[in-house]
Amino acid sequence: MANRALFPGSFDPFHLGHENLVIRALDLFDEIIVGIGHNTNKQNLFDVETRTGWVKELFAGESRVSVGSYSGLTVDYCRHVDAKYILRGLRNTADYQFEQSIAQMNRALETEIETIFLLTAPEYSAINSTILRDIIRHEGDVSKFVPPAITIK
Ligand code: ADP
Repeated sequence: MANRALFPGSFDPFHLGHENLVIRALDLFDEIIVGIGHNTNKQNLFDVETRTGWVKELFAGESRVSVGSYSGLTVDYCRHVDAKYILRGLRNTADYQFEQSIAQMNRALETEIETIFLLTAPEYSAINSTILRDIIRHEGDVSKFVPPAITIK
């Protein structure tokens, strides 16, 4: 059975830190599904179709990476796509504290699913989607923080 991981997040927008995590995780898993979570209460800058399109285009040459979107619980989506692992990145201790509770709660909901963490590559640890959205809203240039295949309009 394929060793499949779900990489969940908002990816609003998808940036170099996210791409680096997926590439490194390909050494650990047979397949990675980038799961774009959407929550009607959360105000996103880019719609789900745009975010999905970026990931599709970026990994068009890598058959082991796919993209999907979901609303609702991440563990339910894991079951839906048959992923036994949740992949998350850790940039700093603030990420750790936040992620610890989510991972423990997810494990309590679904004991078969393990969350695996990768530390962010130091060159990408400052890249943060919230800050990128702010730069975009103020018409700044984010091209050095996102993969060249992604065009932010
Ligand atoms: P969220 O999941 O909170 O909506 P994101 O969509 O930005 O946030 O992040 C999705 C996943 O990518 C999370 O596991 C997050 O820790 C990870 N991540 C965010 N920024 C980086 C980065 N610069 N380098 C590596 N991983 C990151």
